Amino acid sequence: MSISGIKGMNDILPGAVETWQHLEQEARRIFGTFGYREIRVPVVEKTELFCRSIGETTDIVEKEMYTFSDKGGTSMTLRPEGTAPVIRAFIQHKLYAQDPVNKLYYIGPMFRHERPQKGRYRQFQQIGAEVIGLDDPKIDAQLLAMLSHYFEAVQVPDVELQVNSLGCAECRPVYRQALIGYLEKRLAQLCSDCQRRYTTNPLRALDCKVPGCQEATSEAPAMLEHLCEGCSGHFDQVQMHLHNLEVPFKINPRMVRGLDYYTKTTFEMVTGSLGAQNAVAAGGRYDRLIADLGGPDLPGIGFAMGLERLALLIDDQEIMAARPDLFVATLGREAEIAGFKLLTKLQRQGVQAEMEYSGKSLKAQLRRADKLRARHVLILGDDELERGVAQLRDMDQSSQEEVALVNLEAHLQKNVSEA
Ligand code: ATP
Ligand code: MG
Repeated sequence: MSISGIKGMNDILPGAVETWQHLEQEARRIFGTFGYREIRVPVVEKTELFCRSIGETTDIVEKEMYTFSDKGGTSMTLRPEGTAPVIRAFIQHKLYAQDPVNKLYYIGPMFRHERPQKGRYRQFQQIGAEVIGLDDPKIDAQLLAMLSHYFEAVQVPDVELQVNSLGCAECRPVYRQALIGYLEKRLAQLCSDCQRRYTTNPLRALDCKVPGCQEATSEAPAMLEHLCEGCSGHFDQVQMHLHNLEVPFKINPRMVRGLDYYTKTTFEMVTGSLGAQNAVAAGGRYDRLIADLGGPDLPGIGFAMGLERLALLIDDQEIMAARPDLFVATLGREAEIAGFKLLTKLQRQGVQAEMEYSGKSLKAQLRRADKLRARHVLILGDDELERGVAQLRDMDQSSQEEVALVNLEAHLQKNVSEA
């Protein structure tokens, strides 16, 4: 019996992988221009890192983590998200000592034990960015400008940036109390999850997908009405800068996000096309997280986007595997050996070149060249080799010319760079 992969964990095969490479390359390019540098952290961390940062009563920590004991008995967890590991590394390596401002990005797999469905998997790929050390509203706006610029660059259709503010340690507890008071009177209408956690995590009820909960909370008090002066000023400034940078957005006062560490600005990139999996990217400010994890008292803000959802949304017709510049076809034993040498030489020079390796007929070799969509085919026979020439066929133009082997490289380089 053959062995299959694990449910909810996908292979990304050649043919699809080009889309992923494109999404990743564009992120590296754009995030690089905005001054972000890559950080790579392990896929496994001590379980307590996630419990302490994401929060004990969140969906992720309550039900979605892949947690196990290693042989030494330490509780470990496959990372469900990237911010906590990045902050852990930031604190551990005292990155703040080298530079008070750090702009970081990461690309890699995350793991959550959820029910697999379209756009929701158990291993999925995120690209995330974090700015640590700055709490100016300009940074919130700049991060969002970069995110929407990325979405434009990879041409994601029909997405909307939604923003909200979740307040701070001063105003959120007051709001929380007000919300608990509101929910208390409507407990019977709430789903069992929301009933259970309405005192420990009341904000989740606003975000609950169960229709009863949505109805019960339709007139709930909003965080935005309870922001303290500092938070409300910050949120006003963020909006002013977004307008100034011409970044379109909508305020969504019900957005709460699924992680406890968020403060002030939170946001999501939302699409209408993926059903319940409507968030393609999400994030927010986390001004307490670094200190809570034992680091210095520094503010931070960041986002993560899911590549599977992005890949489902973009039109990838144009993103294709690179075509070989040249296919070397040979006739005869001498030519086969000389052609193989030429092929390797060209590859070493950076020409994407291919051949058929098992000594098949010219017809079969040309079929292979067609299948690979080679731009040019070089046909080299024993007698031509003796005369020091070869036939170079331009597959797109359907034209053919004889070229001298001594000039071949220069000729190819020219042809190829024009292609
Ligand atoms: P959702 O509400 O859809 O569960 P989330 O709030 O749990 O999303 P975040 O933790 O904010 O998601 O993660 C950021 C992004 O990562 C999401 O917007 C989404 O694109 C992607 N993502 C999250 N969970 C999954 C998953 N199980 N499979 C695929 N992508 C995911
Ligand atoms: Mg989730």
